[in-house]
Amino acid sequence: MQSILIRAASYFDGDKFHPENAGPYLIAVRDGRIESVAQNSPDAPVNMVTGFVMPGLVDAHVHIFLDGGELDPDKRNAYLNAGHEEMMGVAWRNIARTSRSGVTLVRDAGDRHGINHTMRDELRGDPAALVSLRSAGMGVKRAKRYGSFIARDVGSIEEIPAVIQELAAASDDVKVILTGIIDFEAGAVKGAPQFNVEELQCVIAEARRQGRKTLAHCSGAEGLKMAVEAGIGSIEHGFFMTRELLPRMADKGIAWIPTFSPVHFQWARPELARWRQATIDNLRRILDSHLEHVALAHKAGVEIVAGSDAGSPGVEHGAALIDELFHFLAAGLPMEEVLRSATSRPRRLWNAPSVNIEKGARAELILFDFSPFADPNSLRRPEMVVSSHTSQKLSHS
Ligand SMILES: [Zn+2]
Repeated sequence: MQSILIRAASYFDGDKFHPENAGPYLIAVRDGRIESVAQNSPDAPVNMVTGFVMPGLVDAHVHIFLDGGELDPDKRNAYLNAGHEEMMGVAWRNIARTSRSGVTLVRDAGDRHGINHTMRDELRGDPAALVSLRSAGMGVKRAKRYGSFIARDVGSIEEIPAVIQELAAASDDVKVILTGIIDFEAGAVKGAPQFNVEELQCVIAEARRQGRKTLAHCSGAEGLKMAVEAGIGSIEHGFFMTRELLPRMADKGIAWIPTFSPVHFQWARPELARWRQATIDNLRRILDSHLEHVALAHKAGVEIVAGSDAGSPGVEHGAALIDELFHFLAAGLPMEEVLRSATSRPRRLWNAPSVNIEKGARAELILFDFSPFADPNSLRRPEMVVSSHTSQKLSHS
């Protein structure tokens, strides 16, 4: 591929913001890699002129086989019995939406049907793909407990190692459904955790032996305490977080993916589920506490990672990751930190190659007309992607 020269008024390199007053910047891409980044190059001839550049975004928690735009509970239930072809059709539409939002890497956090593995392999084999997918395959859960659409049952502790070995053979990460979901009417998590500490440690130890990181679907004080004690890789959702756990999470390097979006949607559109006022109040309380604890987590040095839970009702692939960034801003996190949570941080935690904007890195650049440091709404309008194999305009739907 020929070389591309981009002049940008400002850019975020994946870790750090480079503001307009020290620019403009000349980013040279050759053979799919960043050849150089130079400061104060107002006169050099270029191929593209843009307001702002950053690395492609990462959504750390999606379900690629589920359509977040489908709001009818009966249709959502019926869809779980759909065939492979129909599910792949939905997944491809979700991938298209993902790329239109400037997201270039997603982690699928569980899928009973294996659409996530198939999609990962198809994207890997497609030289024109704009998105790559990391797949947690099928998770593990307890019989008759929450999570049958994303996980398989595991019985006694003696069964765990063999099941984890089997799953890890095809999965990039190992997912455990540690707790139930939130009962919004009760304002609490449903039931006790699905596993005890010994069982959870057994899952984590076996995953580690197989070279896999672990993620736990986990909300509620009891499950959260257990996940931290056992040393899980990342806590997904983490509603009802407690202040005491945050320094321990930071010490152990346990990441937190707070996934505001699915709960926020229930609060924003209460008429769809016909929530009563008391339930709407619960939802607001849960969200406010979540905002407060994300701010505390940032101060405590917890590795906060952006993930939308796209595919959940009202949580659209691509756009919801940007919503998630706005929730982080609402919690009071600085823009640099917000962008790190959706670029360099997840890539580092997963040992994925860096696409930071620095000499030698693979090019995976998103161009915007305006800087989100001047106006965060710019994040909703990515204009163009320049990657190692293509440069193309992103059309807005
Ligand atoms: Zn999920």
